[in-house]
Amino acid sequence: MSAPVVGRFAPTPSGRLHLGNLLCALIAYLSARSQGGRFLLRIEDLDTPRCPKRLCDAAARDLAWLGVVWDEPPLVQSERTDVYRRYFDALDEKGLLYPCFCTRAQLHAADAPNRGDDMPVYAGTCARLSPEAVAEKLKTRRPAYRLRVPDETIAVCDRHYGLYQENLARDCGDFILRRSDGLFGYQLAVVVDDALSGVNEIVRGHDILSSTPRQRYLQRLWGFETPAYAHIPLLMSPDGRRLSKRDRDLDLGELRARFGTPEALLGWLAGQTGIAPDTTPRSAEQLVEHFSWDVIRKHRENITVTAE
Ligand code: GLU
Repeated sequence: MSAPVVGRFAPTPSGRLHLGNLLCALIAYLSARSQGGRFLLRIEDLDTPRCPKRLCDAAARDLAWLGVVWDEPPLVQSERTDVYRRYFDALDEKGLLYPCFCTRAQLHAADAPNRGDDMPVYAGTCARLSPEAVAEKLKTRRPAYRLRVPDETIAVCDRHYGLYQENLARDCGDFILRRSDGLFGYQLAVVVDDALSGVNEIVRGHDILSSTPRQRYLQRLWGFETPAYAHIPLLMSPDGRRLSKRDRDLDLGELRARFGTPEALLGWLAGQTGIAPDTTPRSAEQLVEHFSWDVIRKHRENITVTAE
């Protein structure tokens, strides 16, 4: 018998949630619930200056208003530094990490191929520093810490996109697990949190698909199970733009005011995306019976919505 499904939504509240976040939360929720599973919320506010408490609270309030309800108190990443430190130290003790002193300008100036997400593949400059050079640099600079990656192709089978693979050394390079300001990196925190909270189904935006091989590799190093992944197409506005937190007119504050009730907003979104047959007002719970991954699969690259 397979384990009960545990899904989750893990927003980074650096702005008010927008329609794209809402669609992701809704699909993650509907997928878990339609399989009789549980659903969790995690606030990814590791970058505390960018994610003030008021925005974290607003994200939880907006989801509660929508009726996208979670089954346990939410995990808040900014409160979990000690947990992340333990997992970081375990890799450090195995000699898998090294300090990196490269500045942003040096990284971008390096003659390295670009990953396509604006980050160059790390050239390994600091992996080659002598212990003396490291000791000297540590006197004046606080380093970031990178994980050494093998020359190995890691494959992921994604429910929506199918096979996705990357050679870690060639396509990604040694990546950061702790930033030079001391904050633990997204890749570390997300893998630790999903594993420790028993998440076995991850539904999130296509923009994160390329992180998945790195996360799989971390799961292996720490001995965690690999969850099922479904990266969903990004939501586009009718003029072909990807929705972002800058689109104030599509943030939850505006949407709540425009639609008035959660049922009106969810029914409209479900009708627009094909989750439901029409835009009749429906609650999140009522949408569970309409949900099927086949509908999401019909949207290949992007999901476009037309303005109300
Ligand atoms: N916090 C990330 C975001 O809001 C999502 C991380 C994840 O789902 O793994 O883009």
